[in-house]
Amino acid sequence: MAAPVVLVVEDEPAQREILAYNLAAEGFRVRQAKDGEEAMLLVAEEPPDLILLDWMLPNVSGIETCRRLKSRPQTATVPIIMLSARSEEVDLVRGLETGADDYMVKPYSVVELMARARAQLRRSRPSSVGAVLRYDDITLDAETHRVERAGAALKLGPTEFRLLSTFMERPGRVWSREQLLDRVWRRNVFVDTRTVDVHVGRLRKALCARGGADPLRTVRGAGYALG
Ligand code: CA
Repeated sequence: MAAPVVLVVEDEPAQREILAYNLAAEGFRVRQAKDGEEAMLLVAEEPPDLILLDWMLPNVSGIETCRRLKSRPQTATVPIIMLSARSEEVDLVRGLETGADDYMVKPYSVVELMARARAQLRRSRPSSVGAVLRYDDITLDAETHRVERAGAALKLGPTEFRLLSTFMERPGRVWSREQLLDRVWRRNVFVDTRTVDVHVGRLRKALCARGGADPLRTVRGAGYALG
């Protein structure tokens, strides 16, 4: 499983460095933005799994950046932890109304912030923090990369493993081919949407190799879903 991507949006270089250092030490991939505009550009390039967003930013405020992120379908479900100075507590409430998932008041404990970051990721991307996912008779262990169906081990390639993790994080959710490209391939390589069909086909075959019904659903004109 690719390490979760955490975007740090903070205008003070020292603060940004401390956060980036600690997040990298947690095993996360870190991207850094010094303001809201840069954050929007980075997010368009690669949707992160979590955003740490400073309240007081030059030009576009943290609140407005939060609102923009939460109103775009590509980033609406990405958890946001707001970082605010103590004097801005009134604004904190507004922040939660804009859709921020959590907040911490400066000066915050980095240890506590890391714990909250993991908690948000556990909710938004359980497989990225080593959780065991279950769906029906399928079990996926993100730490050991083992997949079992009805107790029997299944052999999956790395791409099929990431695909299955994505499906198992949100059973029932319909993923478009583009969303799967973003999530599973991360657009690091040139792949077209037919590649998604090929790998979903391989995943299906692997899941049914030892019998059992096909748990993957093709939704015409929309994409794929588990269950
Ligand atoms: Ca600031």
